[in-house]
Amino acid sequence: MSGRRSGVSVKPGAVWVAWLGLGLLLTACVLSGSADAAQRSARGEPKRVLILHSFGREFRPWSEYARSIKAGLEQRSSWPLDIQEHTLLSARFNNPGPEAPFVEYLASLYQGAPPDIVISIGAPAARFAQRYRAKLFPDTPMVLTVVEERLVDRSDLTDNDVVVSARLDFMAVFDNILRVLPDTKAVAIVIGASPLEKFWIDALKRDLIPLGNRLELVWLSDLSFQEILERAAKLPPHTVLFWGLMSVDAAGVMYEGDLALRSLRAVANAPIFSYQDPFFGGGTVGGPMQLTAETSRKTVDAVMRILGGEKPSAIKYEPIEFGRPKYDWRELQRWGISETSLPPNSEILFREPTIWERYRGQMLLIAAIILVQAGLISGLLHERNGRRVAEIESRRRLAELAHANRYSSVGELTTSIAHELNQPLGSILTNAETAELMLQGNSPDINEIRLILADIRRDDQRASEVIRRLRSVLKKTPFEIKNIELNETVREAVGLARAVAEGRRITLIYTPVLADLRVKGDPIQLQQVVLNLIINAMDAITDANAGKREVSVWTVRAGKESEVNVVDTGPGVAASDLAHVFDPFFSTKPQGMGMGLAIARTIVEAHHGTINATNQQAGGARFTIRLPLLG
Ligand code: ADP
Repeated sequence: MSGRRSGVSVKPGAVWVAWLGLGLLLTACVLSGSADAAQRSARGEPKRVLILHSFGREFRPWSEYARSIKAGLEQRSSWPLDIQEHTLLSARFNNPGPEAPFVEYLASLYQGAPPDIVISIGAPAARFAQRYRAKLFPDTPMVLTVVEERLVDRSDLTDNDVVVSARLDFMAVFDNILRVLPDTKAVAIVIGASPLEKFWIDALKRDLIPLGNRLELVWLSDLSFQEILERAAKLPPHTVLFWGLMSVDAAGVMYEGDLALRSLRAVANAPIFSYQDPFFGGGTVGGPMQLTAETSRKTVDAVMRILGGEKPSAIKYEPIEFGRPKYDWRELQRWGISETSLPPNSEILFREPTIWERYRGQMLLIAAIILVQAGLISGLLHERNGRRVAEIESRRRLAELAHANRYSSVGELTTSIAHELNQPLGSILTNAETAELMLQGNSPDINEIRLILADIRRDDQRASEVIRRLRSVLKKTPFEIKNIELNETVREAVGLARAVAEGRRITLIYTPVLADLRVKGDPIQLQQVVLNLIINAMDAITDANAGKREVSVWTVRAGKESEVNVVDTGPGVAASDLAHVFDPFFSTKPQGMGMGLAIARTIVEAHHGTINATNQQAGGARFTIRLPLLG
């Protein structure tokens, strides 16, 4: 909003009177001054731009226009610019004092060196410039900007003037209020008390006549701003605030910048509506809005064209209407105004991004990581499950294979075992017959008979021990891990093979370590491994073997491991075969299956142990099993 209509113009006749009054000297100065400006331009010297402010350089809304006009000028100008700014203080006062001293000041400042162009910001400045131009800068082109169309005194425009005006449509602003808050009953109107503001109160009253009694209008301009704040904090329900202007309040206090609006926003219990673009974003809800940028752009455009030599009379602009409605998202949220109630072409600004919008990238990344992790975990679980199933299956197979292998090993032993069993049975028979004969005598030697019976018992125990071992080794049991004492397990296996060794005239020596060897394992399967190694060792000692016929089995503790060694006095394993003896179906024996050592290694590895074969320096093979000791 700008300037007041009354007493705006100075008629051309009056200008001449003033000129005469000031004397020919001033005329000469001004003329020589404009010739001066032309010369300066020709030399590429700075263009001198005089900006006249209405209320003050920092008064909103004009300050925002001035800022963007200056920025535009500096951006677009191909000449260096000398921008000089002056402020009309008289617009602030209800009863302005004489303007003459300010006019004299400007006259003496620009005497002989008028600016290249004058830009007036706001209606009071436009009115002042029009009134005193003849005296101050009669030949200087002027751009009257940031002025409402109805405040432009067109009758007083010259060919040297360009007008950049706007048109305010108050009905559109109030229609918007009723559209977004249909329950609104009253609008409290905040406008100050300077002459310009009073002009707008009258204009508003006239413009809003079509509203009829749809809304109650509450005029606050007779109050000081402090009183307005108090009223705004206690507005009745269904009331909204209309923010027009607050440059000077009824108490004569000035309000620069946006402090007044911010104070109002802080205390008001109702939403604030305004069409003032320079205040948008500072607490107003929004609606149809002035186009600050458009006004600035046109002003800069006119200035550039005039400085470039174009005639001002050739530059004409239509008044700038409101732009498309725009709203402050934060205020919509604050007052619970739904976006669906806004006009279809409206724009919503200051939307605060949701957590999702703000951290979208990070959230997607985290979600992706979680998904990948979940996938990995379920994959691993699946694999673990699969492995467990496979392990159980492989153990079952191993147990079956080991059982079959035991049958075959024991098959090899049967002849010797039969022989072994025959021996105790034979001596039992002989002893029993001897005892019978002795009892038939007259004075049987009871002591002798007792000794014979002891022999019979010993032989019987020996036979049943052989049978027990045989049954135990042939037992079909699932793979079963328990805590065992390895020396004992090995002793069982050696015991089983002893009969065979005797049959083959082989000395079988077992030397357990004098310490407990606690390991975790399946005793039957470990026995089978040791038995296999002993049978192989005995197989290696053939009849052709002339030297010592001996198989030694011993256990040791080696750090955290237990060790079982089976050593023979046979020819040893051929160097080229050492790497293959544990392969399935590797055999150098005519009837051999080649599965014994392969099964032995599988069993040992299932016990987390190792088995390996070497040749002894003194001859013969040495097989070593290592199993982890418990605790
Ligand atoms: P098989 O006894 O049926 O041949 P094994 O897997 O038990 O199957 O043994 C594989 C091969 O390893 C034997 O054929 C033999 O060549 C060799 N071997 C095993 N133990 C000895 C040993 N103590 N001395 C020499 N060679 C051996």
